[in-house]
Amino acid sequence: MSEAYDDRARRFIWHPFTQMSDWMDGNPIVIERAEGNHLIDTQGNRYLDGISSMWVNVHGHDHPHIVSALHRQLDRVAHSTLLGLSCEPSIELAERLVRVAPPGLSRVFYSDNGATAVEVALKIAFQYWQLRGESQRTLFVCLEDGYHGDTLGAVSVGGIDAFHARFGPLTFPSLRAHNAPCYRCPYGKTYPQCNIHCLESLEGLLRERGECVAGLIVEPLVQGAGGMLLLPDGWLRRARELCDRHGVLLIVDEVATGFGRTGKMFACDHEGVTPDLLALAKGLTAGFLPLAATLSTESIFEMFLAPTSAGQQLFHGHSYTGNALGCAAAIANLDVFEREPVLERVAERSAQLASGLARLAKLDAVGEIRQRGLMVGIELVRDRATRERFDPEDRVGHWVCMAMRQHGVILRPLGDTIVLMPPLSVTPEEIDQIVEGLEACIPQVVGC
Ligand SMILES: *Cc1c(COP(=O)(O)O)cnc(C)c1O
Repeated sequence: MSEAYDDRARRFIWHPFTQMSDWMDGNPIVIERAEGNHLIDTQGNRYLDGISSMWVNVHGHDHPHIVSALHRQLDRVAHSTLLGLSCEPSIELAERLVRVAPPGLSRVFYSDNGATAVEVALKIAFQYWQLRGESQRTLFVCLEDGYHGDTLGAVSVGGIDAFHARFGPLTFPSLRAHNAPCYRCPYGKTYPQCNIHCLESLEGLLRERGECVAGLIVEPLVQGAGGMLLLPDGWLRRARELCDRHGVLLIVDEVATGFGRTGKMFACDHEGVTPDLLALAKGLTAGFLPLAATLSTESIFEMFLAPTSAGQQLFHGHSYTGNALGCAAAIANLDVFEREPVLERVAERSAQLASGLARLAKLDAVGEIRQRGLMVGIELVRDRATRERFDPEDRVGHWVCMAMRQHGVILRPLGDTIVLMPPLSVTPEEIDQIVEGLEACIPQVVGC
């Protein structure tokens, strides 16, 4: 049975972000089921899900409250459209999201994944300015190393050249500000001077081009796919102030940071910031189903109100928008946050993880460890003093993650940055398992 799966796993699927010639030569793990924070493969091997199944899982894979909410919803209706109809779970969830989101966000537009949540935010922002009579505001400002998904609008505001450069000719132009701290600072500045410098870069862009800018889009506190890069404390609040000063909408992409990962429900909560538009996906359904939401302020929403014949409605939607099963899972997810001390647990586990990571930081190949709550990047370098990198051909990050499978942990790196993003339900023993595994695997792979 499993052999048959191995063979077919190589034959039929075109995997995302995957060099398929490697894949077809490899021996893929085929997942059969899951228990708690563990994935179990067709051979019966158990693996700790150290990246929450690509950052989506929140309370483990089989949280009974979410499972039973899904069963209940399945007995009622799996899906009906939001085009011309409404559906119970979509209403309930919208109300619940407005209640937990940063104050001032009052409307919920559904879609299916993080990229679409971003597309919707960009289109709302763009149309908003048209409707307001400032149709010269067509540009978006984004950050270096930013990631907002893989559809073309999201790629247009992306800042990771390895993913995005090839599709440049298909994208719309955007303005890229330095991120902070900018590891590739062209002026050779280092943190925290760099922080100030980078805000200056943003400020400069807005001063020069602000009247043509529709919105600034950022990942708050942590730039995830860019390598778990941390924005310094206060950065988001300053960005909010700069947007206000230049009349620019602030679009915050909490697709990765939302739902407790950083230690608060949303990363915005750390800085008391309310964006004009907020994109949510990944953890929204606790990792059970694809669902996304773009939240908006009432004043943006109101700008779209007009007689139907005026054609001012938002012409955007998807077949599965507001899917009832997805919404039921998301409601149950929010229930779990209310009923269990989830965020308190994140605080405890983050502290435990931080002390484990302090041990790892002593390894020669560890250049820097970046942590915010249960989002971690461990950057591996050839030379800690000069931050000289390993040859990309050596794929050191990849091989460390492969070695971790022998320690029963599934990880996936970003280049030579090892990413840790366990479910919020991770146990103290599982944190030890990850840290001890890395203590063994990093020296083993880099050979020192
Ligand atoms: C993953 C991610 C996205 C894209 O979400 P998908 O569901 O994969 O389309 C967008 N923004 C951020 C910050 C992400 O981490």
